[in-house]
Amino acid sequence: MHLTTSYPDGLYIEGIALTDIATRFGTPCYVYSRAALAAAYSGYRNALDAQGFGNRALICYAVKANASLAILNLFANLGAGFDIVSGGELARVLAAGGKAEKIVFSGVGKSRAEMRAALAAGIHCFNVESASELTQLNAVAGELGTCAPISLRVNPNVDPKTHPYISTGLKDAKFGIAMDAAFALYQHAASLPHLAVKGIDCHIGSQLLDPAPAAEAMDKVLALADQLAVAHIPLTHIDVGGGMGIQYQPDKPAPTVADYLAPILAKLSDRHEQLVLEPGRSLVGNAGLLLTQVMVLKPGEEKNFAIVDAAMNDLMRPALYDAFHEIVKVGAGDTPQSFESDRRECRAVSGKPSWRTAKHDEQCWEIVGPVCESGDFLGHDRALALAEGDLLAILSAGAYGMAMASNYNTRPRAAEVMVDGDQVHLIRRREEVAELFALESVLPAG
Ligand SMILES: *Cc1c(COP(=O)(O)O)cnc(C)c1O
Repeated sequence: MHLTTSYPDGLYIEGIALTDIATRFGTPCYVYSRAALAAAYSGYRNALDAQGFGNRALICYAVKANASLAILNLFANLGAGFDIVSGGELARVLAAGGKAEKIVFSGVGKSRAEMRAALAAGIHCFNVESASELTQLNAVAGELGTCAPISLRVNPNVDPKTHPYISTGLKDAKFGIAMDAAFALYQHAASLPHLAVKGIDCHIGSQLLDPAPAAEAMDKVLALADQLAVAHIPLTHIDVGGGMGIQYQPDKPAPTVADYLAPILAKLSDRHEQLVLEPGRSLVGNAGLLLTQVMVLKPGEEKNFAIVDAAMNDLMRPALYDAFHEIVKVGAGDTPQSFESDRRECRAVSGKPSWRTAKHDEQCWEIVGPVCESGDFLGHDRALALAEGDLLAILSAGAYGMAMASNYNTRPRAAEVMVDGDQVHLIRRREEVAELFALESVLPAG
């Protein structure tokens, strides 16, 4: 995301100061940039167009990365399709204006109700992950008097060299169909009356910074596609999955989309199949940040703790994967001394409390939330000059941030806003505490 610093308000996203967002919407608050989302989508579109895939590539945004209606609607308007993993995501995509015929349905466990809903909507394809799912889908499609379009998600057994929790393409993974078993299963699928074999699908993992494993997987996928064509099971599309990584740390750059896709597209360029891509993180990750405020500073002998009002329930990635998110000060980080004193005067005049007067020098801080878990941290050992009341921006939080948020500790989920030029729109209001137990009941009296 493009952040700029500007006198006197510190960090800006597009034309909006983050301090203004905090004042208007409170913290913690997820902030997205419309321009950054659109730019990420164009990055894919342009890379595909440049390689001659303009007319035969379908970008299916992986909804699970961030299922916000506003974000889905934005991508739908740009022409995107969607990769869903549940009936809930199907309903969201349709509510956001997504087109059913551009939806692919992934996931190892689809219920009959979900199959029915997706068939009724008329989705592009089911990415089937087991023999049993084929049988069930054939039966459900039969009951509805229709035919289900399918791909098999194969497991190419390549190591994506990413975090084990987001590695999905090794033999011991619960995902996909073993390469050795796939050919026979395709033959079986082709014999079932209520299935229409359309494609092949593979997704080996997430946050991949090197395209080599995906290219290696593609070789195996294409070899199988050729074998199937010989056996009179021609495929009309090849789904390369998602997984392209993003830059989280200044010293760990991510490739451009064009560079990442190049070796994969090279293998597909003289073929005829439609290309389906399922990017999630790379479309939204760097288009969002989590805005939070320092509540309490607790310097200690071993460690200094800065307790902020966002926590693991808002952003689980650090607790779950030990993931790194860059954390920057929104206010006076690099600002000149004159700014500091101006601010103080300004606050003194307006009668507001001045945090700045308590400004500390830079120290090492553990940035933690208020949740009662030692795993509740957002960043370790961050050198920041912090004072209570400071605003912090936790960067690269657009993917798997709000999507994984929970109400743990009965904490209302954060507000979400989208900046669009010099406008800012509330796209999800902050939850209220009473809403968090509104669905519950106590036992009857007596
Ligand atoms: C999660 C997932 C994606 C998206 O992965 P990213 O790493 O966010 O791009 C795509 N396809 C499938 C099947 C997935 O499970």
